Amino acid sequence: MPNYILFKNARLFDGFSHSPAPDSWVLVKDDRIASVGRGNPAAPAQACVVDVAGQTVLPGLIDTHIHSLLMGDEGLQLFIAAGVTSARDCGGRLEGVKAVQRALAAGDKLGPRLYVCGPLLQGSVQALPEPFASAMLESVESIDAVPGKVRPLLDNEVDCIKLYFTLPTETGRRIISYVGGNVPVTGHLGWMRASEAVEAGISGLEHVSISPFQDICPLQHQWGAQPSMMSREWGEKLRLGWQEADLAEARTTNLIAQMAERQVAMGTLLSVDWMTWNGFENTRRDPDRRYIPPAVLARHRAMAEALGGGEDWDLHLPGFGGTHTGDPRKALEKQLEFCRLLYAAGGLIVGGTDAGGVSMPPPGLSLLREIEMLAVAIGETAALRAVTSQAARYLRKQRDVGSIAPGRFADLLVVDGDPLRDVRELRKLTAVYKGGVEYRPAAILAGIPANSNYPSDKVTGGY
Ligand SMILES: [Zn+2]
Repeated sequence: MPNYILFKNARLFDGFSHSPAPDSWVLVKDDRIASVGRGNPAAPAQACVVDVAGQTVLPGLIDTHIHSLLMGDEGLQLFIAAGVTSARDCGGRLEGVKAVQRALAAGDKLGPRLYVCGPLLQGSVQALPEPFASAMLESVESIDAVPGKVRPLLDNEVDCIKLYFTLPTETGRRIISYVGGNVPVTGHLGWMRASEAVEAGISGLEHVSISPFQDICPLQHQWGAQPSMMSREWGEKLRLGWQEADLAEARTTNLIAQMAERQVAMGTLLSVDWMTWNGFENTRRDPDRRYIPPAVLARHRAMAEALGGGEDWDLHLPGFGGTHTGDPRKALEKQLEFCRLLYAAGGLIVGGTDAGGVSMPPPGLSLLREIEMLAVAIGETAALRAVTSQAARYLRKQRDVGSIAPGRFADLLVVDGDPLRDVRELRKLTAVYKGGVEYRPAAILAGIPANSNYPSDKVTGGY
């Protein structure tokens, strides 16, 4: 006999609408949404009724950019605790990410529905140091190597192909044409320019701070054939380049127009810079800090021991300290402005976070920070669309996730507040449903071991 759940008296955000629909109901049958309506619900007598009067029901959130192999099981659970019911692994060795995907789908691990890209496709020059390199990268040494490297990924039914930093333009073009639109292709670009990738037919760009940079920054801050992003010099160029960029220049306005016309998604990953946005002292004392997963902490500890880290070693990107040249806040505000201009031009903004690759904010919770930053750039409703319906469309999974409509998976959130008025109200998440199964965020968080570097004596408040 089927299992029915009826949510009634909801303030409903379906993933699309510009204002919530009051007095709504949602009927779930097993793991899918059966019907949605307003007023008096028509439900089978045996339905389990959940009265959500005064609360908002919205689709489970989608993080379009995570690294599931870097965070351990505790990290995966955090997604559900934060209301993120779907995520795309945006770079990890194929066997590894496929194994995590299977374990999540079978219910052997608690975490989001996982879509996968497989490895990051770099050129012949190594883009990342260990331990990231062997967990995440695959080299495509030449144009001729493209079929041999890309065919097995398509045969293994990856959901996306991801181009990486040191991939030369010609090889990038060849990969995009070889994939032929069968799955989306996205890029964390460095050597290949965003404008070239858009012209070649790429579907998305990752990191607003990095992928469009070469088309936007003043010429003296462009990087050449730089082998790695893991250097202080590279970080300085990035910050100064953004700080001094003139977004009204023709090459920038052309890029924005082309991205909008072709609906190339901008995966924002603004929350990677949360510490700059939020301030270092606030971030030190942020209660989310206690949830940095043990696997991420262990990697940071090893990096700090090798590279020299201070007392707050758990907060910094490996290899980078807390000091900056230039004004990182100005650079970040310019990136928000780029998002605002792209959105105003009709472009596709989607939320992603690099969860697993960064420690703070922790997985899952980082998407809530991403949404806060996006809301500043494009407004509350557009920010929520960016992590629901728009993200699903970009991943080409809109028939399964990203909205509340008949036939979609019963992935939905119950929030004791109105996140369309203020996205920070997503923190008042009381229940998460994934495939019609209920989870309680507070219970999941209570089971995550606390970060021992977290200065709990100095902190007031909590999740
Ligand atoms: Zn990433």
